[in-house]
Amino acid sequence: MEGSDAAAPSESDPRRSVRKRVFVVGGGIMGSGIAAQAALAGYAVTLEDISEELVERARRNVEQALDGAVRRGKLAPSAREEAIGNIEAAIGLRRADTAQFVVEAAPENLELKRTLFAEIEAVASPTAILATNTSSLPITSIASGVKDPGRVVGLHFFNPVLAMPLVELIPGARTRPEVVEAARSFAVDLGKTVVTSRDTPGFVTTRALAVLGNEAVWMLYEGTATREDIDTAYKLGFRHPMGPLELLDLVGLDTALSILDILWEGFKDTKYRACPLLRTMVSAKKLGRKTGEGFYSYPPAPGAPG
Ligand code: NAD
Repeated sequence: MEGSDAAAPSESDPRRSVRKRVFVVGGGIMGSGIAAQAALAGYAVTLEDISEELVERARRNVEQALDGAVRRGKLAPSAREEAIGNIEAAIGLRRADTAQFVVEAAPENLELKRTLFAEIEAVASPTAILATNTSSLPITSIASGVKDPGRVVGLHFFNPVLAMPLVELIPGARTRPEVVEAARSFAVDLGKTVVTSRDTPGFVTTRALAVLGNEAVWMLYEGTATREDIDTAYKLGFRHPMGPLELLDLVGLDTALSILDILWEGFKDTKYRACPLLRTMVSAKKLGRKTGEGFYSYPPAPGAPG
């Protein structure tokens, strides 16, 4: 990856104008994966976060995602190098001005996303597509604070982005058809298979997964089985590649809890009532892999601070 703000390509660098540019907002689990995927597809990518420390973490996330693909034999080392060279890092939204696609992957919080989209709109080119990677929030609500909601669309990638072939495409109530088609082409260009969902909380996938994961946490909370037996039961009984508690650790317990609260808010159906254990773990900052502890413990990644 190129250096942070100071070392990014200058305005006169031909790469800024020739290749299509993607600006990714938020360099956490998903933003770094989306950035890596777009870079592999040959886009010039700017990966943004809110502080130097978080930009550094985003860099490491990208490198780890690409390294994993190389280790699994899915990616040539030369393609890894090329992808890293396609990504620049930035703090703040300023550089979104030259992007054709802006993909927002900030935390799952409606007010935060609403504010961010108004800020993004103020900076981005008027023709840029503004996509959100929300897992559960209605696109129409996220777009309600922008002047032109016609260019806001949901583009829901899956975790880990490089390994997961699906993207859910969600047009908001005001999204223009050409924006939907441009977003679809972008996802296909990134090698993904697209399914379309109506704009209801949790769309098709998250709605189902949230219930499945929450049920596993309730079983752990009630002492129905150990964490290992719950995970083994789902894996061997349903042929799931990961157990639900392992998956929650991968997703992030804070994100999973936000999603359940959004589904509860949207449907007022008790099937979305988050297990108190999930809430306690989030309060205790046991968020899963990203904090090193969730339902299981994770040693720090090589090169990670402290
Ligand atoms: P995360 O917590 O790993 O990363 C979020 C990043 O956004 C952090 O690096 C944070 O510093 C940054 N951020 C916070 N405020 C910001 C701001 N104002 N501007 C820019 N960046 C800001 O979260 P994540 O798991 O990557 O989730 C991001 C989005 O993707 C959420 O909407 C989530 O629902 C969705 N999503 C998550 C998963 C998953 O498995 N984790 C899967 C699909 C979709």
